[in-house]
This record gives sequence, structure tokens and C-alpha cells, in this order.
Amino acid sequence: MYPKPIENLIRSLTRLPSVGRRTAERYVFHLLKSGKKEVAELTLALKQLAETMKSCAVCRDFSDVSPCRVCADRSRDHATIAVVAESQDVQALERTGAYAGVYHVLRGVIDPEEIERLDQLKVADLLDRARDQNTREIILALNPDIKGETTMMYLEAELKELRPDLTVTRLARGLPMGSDLEYADEITLGSALRHRLKQ
Ligand SMILES: [Zn+2]
Repeated sequence: MYPKPIENLIRSLTRLPSVGRRTAERYVFHLLKSGKKEVAELTLALKQLAETMKSCAVCRDFSDVSPCRVCADRSRDHATIAVVAESQDVQALERTGAYAGVYHVLRGVIDPEEIERLDQLKVADLLDRARDQNTREIILALNPDIKGETTMMYLEAELKELRPDLTVTRLARGLPMGSDLEYADEITLGSALRHRLKQ
């Protein structure tokens, strides 16, 4: 056992995705060796993150202001909503320059075995927005993998039941199965967005 402050930080770090105990130990000893300045910078960055970031009341993206800059931008098309799994996907779609609508961030996707978890995603907020008659199209822009496909299938069913007149689309094929939106190149993603398919 290391001294308690080290153990505490290791425990906190291992809660992060892809960080096992070994990696956490490496981070902690790196910080100890690098000195107080680096630790102070990290502490400040974490404090600012916790104190200034919030959830946009409209799209549920993380932002320092609510509504976020995209939702507050009146020059965007607020009748078209792209549903994405994570905040990073908003950035990926923005980088394409091919999209002028707004977003909805689900904060995750579900496995075929955990359909009951659908409620833990920001689905109720999405349905509220879909209920609004000003909403004309919902683009389901989740990753083309098992979880993304499962989530899209359920959302499609819910949206169609709620508003049969609503246009529900998906990104065009061309994104390889199993690929991650976050890492798709701008041209491929932009083209998938422009050639989206009506469901
Ligand atoms: Zn927003």
C-alpha cells in the first residue's frame, strides 16, 4: 500500500475510461516527480471544469453557457436536430462544415441486452423537442456499430410513434461498420451527412 494521498488519487484515476491501476500509478508518480507547478495547473484545470461547465438546457451538450452557443445561434436551422451519442461527436460534425442544424447529445448508447437503460440517456429531453411542431427532421447520427444501431432502432420507433409526420433520417452508409464518428475524416462524415437516408 502506498501512502493514503497516493492511494486516493490512484483510486480516482482508475475510474476514468481505459485507466487501469498501473497507468494510474504512472500518472501519480509522474505528477510527484514533475513538481508543484504541474500539479497546481492540473488542480486549477479540474476546478475550472467543475465550476464552469454545465449541461445546455436545450441540447444537453456540455457548455460553459446555457443555452450553448449552437442552440443560441439564430442563424442555424433549429428545425433539424442531429442526435449524437457524445459531445465529441458534435465537434466531429461541426468540423465537416456540412451541417447547419442543431444537436441533441444523448450522453451514451445502449447495448442490445440493456434496453431498459434507454431511459438513462437524454431521451426524454429529445422526445420533448421532437414533440415541438417546429421540429421537422431528426437525424440519427450515432456510430454504425451494434450499440449505435440498437439505440437508433429504439429511438426511431419512439419518434415515429410520437410524431408520424416527423422526418427521421440516418447518416448515409459509407461510414465503415464499427467506425467511430469522432475519428471519421471530415469528407467522409460530411458526405454521410449530406446523403442521409430517410427511415
Ligand atoms: Zn445546446
